[in-house]
Amino acid sequence: MTDPAPRARVGGPLVVRTPEELRRALADAGRVGLVPTMGALHGGHRSLMRLARERVDTLVVSVFVNPLQFGPDEDLDRYPRDLPGDTRLCGEEGVDVVFAPETATMYPRPQMVTVDAGAMGDRLEGASRPGHFTGVLTVVTKLFQLVRPDLAVFGAKDAQQIALVRRMVADLDLPVEIVGAPTLRDPDGLASSSRNVYLSERDRVSALSLSRALAAGADAAPEGAEAVRAAAQAVLDKAAGAVPPVELDYLALVDPATFADAADDHRGEAVLAVAARVGPTRLIDNVTVTLRP
Ligand code: AMP
Repeated sequence: MTDPAPRARVGGPLVVRTPEELRRALADAGRVGLVPTMGALHGGHRSLMRLARERVDTLVVSVFVNPLQFGPDEDLDRYPRDLPGDTRLCGEEGVDVVFAPETATMYPRPQMVTVDAGAMGDRLEGASRPGHFTGVLTVVTKLFQLVRPDLAVFGAKDAQQIALVRRMVADLDLPVEIVGAPTLRDPDGLASSSRNVYLSERDRVSALSLSRALAAGADAAPEGAEAVRAAAQAVLDKAAGAVPPVELDYLALVDPATFADAADDHRGEAVLAVAARVGPTRLIDNVTVTLRP
């Protein structure tokens, strides 16, 4: 393919709302990159855009709060939404196209056919949020079909999500390269997240014990899997008594490819993952540790 004409981004990215507008925007687009998001964009999303920007001619960011991946008692209605702010941020990162469909555009009829995430989709996040990964993989597949990206970037912050997307792409022979981006953290160590806006000042202090627990676990990696779990658990036990308390959902050390529990004699990389509620906010975080290489 010949080089496409450089895109004028004066005035910011092109915002498109429908598959038809998207198709028009992507005619003659060259190599296309996609960063799927739910909006309320922050530094973590920026880092994904920067990774993609270097490698493609046309960069698409999708902004869509996907109802299919929210449970009935979850925060779908109050999830932060700010398309003008998101569009500005995308402009700063050299994004060419923002695809921001309405729910009725993505789901014009009840979604009958979905992507089954298999056993990996029932663990950790999937156990706490039944159906979550079916919703994620279904919308990611739809976005891949609509945008037809050459590559798509996902964050390690959602470790189980990127592992499942990689596995889906492999198992279903989807013609897209999946690129992983490291977790961006705020200066205090808290993983950047759109949901951090829910945290009060006091919540935030308690929430810091998640990243502290992961760091303690990582420090214990030379002593093996049990030591990693114990070191992280000790921090979380203490945080359970903080005000407000950190209410642990799960702490798990898992195989990065399957998200099955790492055996006590596991060697090589493992993911130490945590989910907890602080006040009204559910937070997740993880770190990759190397056990007895
Ligand atoms: P979300 O908008 O929360 O659905 O996230 C969209 C993408 O950004 C996903 O691939 C996330 O894993 C990624 N992401 C979210 N927060 C971070 C972060 N702190 N660091 C790196 N990637 C992130």
